[in-house]
Amino acid sequence: RAKATNRGRMQVFEPWMLGRHTLLLSLQTDLQDAARLEQLTLQYQPVVSLTDDTVRGVEALVRWQHPEHGQISPGEFIALAEGTGMIREIDLWVLRRSCRAMLPLVQAGRLAKLSVNFSPRHFDQPGLPEQIAAILSETGFPHHALVVEITEGVFMRRHRLANVMLRELLRQGVGVAVDDFGTGYSSLSYVQRLPLSDIKVDRSFVAAAAQYPGIIRSIVDLALGLDMTVVAEGVETPEQLEVVRALGCDYAQGYLLSRPLLGPDLIAWLDARDAAAEAVEEVQPANL
Ligand code: C2E
Ligand code: MG
Ligand code: MG
Ligand code: MG
Repeated sequence: RAKATNRGRMQVFEPWMLGRHTLLLSLQTDLQDAARLEQLTLQYQPVVSLTDDTVRGVEALVRWQHPEHGQISPGEFIALAEGTGMIREIDLWVLRRSCRAMLPLVQAGRLAKLSVNFSPRHFDQPGLPEQIAAILSETGFPHHALVVEITEGVFMRRHRLANVMLRELLRQGVGVAVDDFGTGYSSLSYVQRLPLSDIKVDRSFVAAAAQYPGIIRSIVDLALGLDMTVVAEGVETPEQLEVVRALGCDYAQGYLLSRPLLGPDLIAWLDARDAAAEAVEEVQPANL
C-alpha cells in the first residue's frame, strides 16, 4: 500500500473506499427518487430570544429516511445533492412544505420567522427570487416571516449575480441570514455592501465563547453598526447561553433550548412553554 510513503499526496486506494464510493453512488441515484418517493421529512428547531425568552421562530431542517440505510443526515446527502444539482429541487420543496406547515403558527402569532437553508448552487444562475416569490404567493406565506439562510460560500462564486439576487429578496421583504458566520473564507466586505438581516454565529465560536469571547464580541459590534440581528447557533449548555447573552447576541438556537422537532412535537413544545409562562404569571401576583 502506498499509504506510508505518499501520505497526503496521492489518492490512496483502500478496499473500504470501494464500499464507500459504491454506497455514495447508489445514494446519489436513490436521492433522485427520494423527493418523489416522499422519503424526505422536515424538522423544525426553535430560535429563542435572549432578551425576553420568547420564541422568535424556527429553522426548517431536512431529513432523509432511506428505506435500507435508515436516517441519513443532511451533512452527508446535501453534498451529494449539490453534486447533481438536485439540491435546487430539494430546497424549494423544503420551502413549500415548511411554509404550508408553519403558516397557521405564523398567523396565530406564535412564530414570527421561518428560516430555510439555500445552497450556494442556487446562486450560480438567476431565478431564485422569482421562484421564492412564486412559492410564497402559492402558499400565502408572508414575505416578512421568511428568512433565507445562505453561507459565505455564496459570495465566493458568482458574487455579482448573488448580490443582485439577494438584493431582490431583501427588496421583497424577505430576510437574509449568513449562516455559520466566520467559518468561510470570504472577506467581510459583503456584509457592509448588502443590507443583510441576520448573522448566525457558528457553533464552534459558541462552544469556545467562555475562553475566547473576542470573536463573538466583534461579530456583535459589527452587527450593531449595520443593524443586523445576531443569532448564536449550537448552544448546548446553560453556561454558553449566559455567555452569548452577556456578549449581546439577540437570539439563541441549540440543543439546550430544543432539538429539531417534528411538526406535532413543535406544537407540543410551544404549548408547554405557553403553559409554563402562564403558570408563572398566576403565581406572581400572590407573591407580591
Ligand atoms: P445549519 O443550517 O447550520 O443548521 C444547524 C445544524 O446544527 C443542524 O444540523 C442542527 O440540527 C444542528 N444543531 C442545532 N443545535 C445544535 C447543538 O446544540 N449542537 C450541535 N452539535 N448541533 C446542533 P443538521 O440538521 O444535521 O443540518 C446540517 C446542515 O445541513 C445545516 O447546517 C445546513 O447547512 C444543511 N441543511 C439542513 N437542511 C437543509 C436544507 O433544507 N437545504 C440545504 N441546502 N441545506 C440544509
Ligand atoms: Mg441554517
Ligand atoms: Mg448556521
Ligand atoms: Mg450553521
